[in-house]
Amino acid sequence: MSNKEIDWSNLGFGYIQTDYRYVSRYKDGKWDEGAVITDPDIVLSECACVFQYAQTCFEGLKAYRTQDGRIVCFRPDLNAERMADTAKRLVMPPFPEDRFVDAVKKVVKANADFVPPFGTGATLYLRPFMMGTNPVIGVKPADDFEFRIFATPVGPYFKGGAKPITIKVSDYDRAAPHGTGNIKAGLNYAMSLYPITVAHEEGFAENMYLDAATRTKVEETGGANFIFITKDGTLVTPKSDSILPSITRRSICYVAEHILGMKVEHREVEFSEVKDFAECGLCGTAAVISPVGRIVDHGKEISFPAGMDEMGPVTKKLYDTLTGIQQCRLDAPEGWIVEID
Ligand SMILES: *Cc1c(COP(=O)(O)O)cnc(C)c1O
Repeated sequence: MSNKEIDWSNLGFGYIQTDYRYVSRYKDGKWDEGAVITDPDIVLSECACVFQYAQTCFEGLKAYRTQDGRIVCFRPDLNAERMADTAKRLVMPPFPEDRFVDAVKKVVKANADFVPPFGTGATLYLRPFMMGTNPVIGVKPADDFEFRIFATPVGPYFKGGAKPITIKVSDYDRAAPHGTGNIKAGLNYAMSLYPITVAHEEGFAENMYLDAATRTKVEETGGANFIFITKDGTLVTPKSDSILPSITRRSICYVAEHILGMKVEHREVEFSEVKDFAECGLCGTAAVISPVGRIVDHGKEISFPAGMDEMGPVTKKLYDTLTGIQQCRLDAPEGWIVEID
């Protein structure tokens, strides 16, 4: 597809094949030098470890155009670091973090025609991923791996403003067995496909997962961390070893504390205290913050005072400040904005 055919203002969140992707292969204990290539297809053995034992992980980040026409990424070093942590947990060789950022830059630069124009709200979504590629039939990790990054333009997450959503307390656990919830990997998503399908069928936008051991503490949704605002304006975010450490959430906490002078608490959050919060939101790369207006727990409803019409005032301030930094309208903390030259 040529970028000329793309209607930037009406893009959804779907895959559009772009011209270039990055690939590096790991063999005999080392990564090769890597290359930007054009072939979007991957051909592997039917017995590749990725197919049999799901030895694969991924990351997600965005590149976008600033008002003055530059192309930038937001904190790609944190994606590099998190993917290295995920890889270790899945017995994969971490892709060197400096090479990860360099590969991001190469893919974005090669696909510069697909970076949406400023003002459309659209961005170039980047999907780094890694997998075990050689045949493995006994249960063990692969020896050979492939690291890739592809790019696909995506539309603005909210068309016409962020409307609060209604979510449900899930009957299922998000994390895969044995505490692998805190890695960004396909297996966690595979296990969330059934619960999200059930939630959608029942008319809910998302699931709130509670901790698997006691079902009393708030964890996260299938793909986003929670933020809560107390009635006296404190930002509270759940702390747990089985929550994915969201880069958006960590950035929001920094902005709240160091730029907006708010009180910030990163701690265990009991589900029983959720009814006392004034605002609730979901945070992640795709939407930055989606406001939550209502949570349904098996027929019992928790409605937030901020309501179902628009983002609550504190959530809005956090959203405006973080998106202002991302769009380079506000000064960014050191190292947050990485320019593609
Ligand atoms: C990606 C992801 C998030 C959001 O993380 P960001 O780094 O902010 O995009 C939250 N939870 C899960 C399970 C995720 O996979």
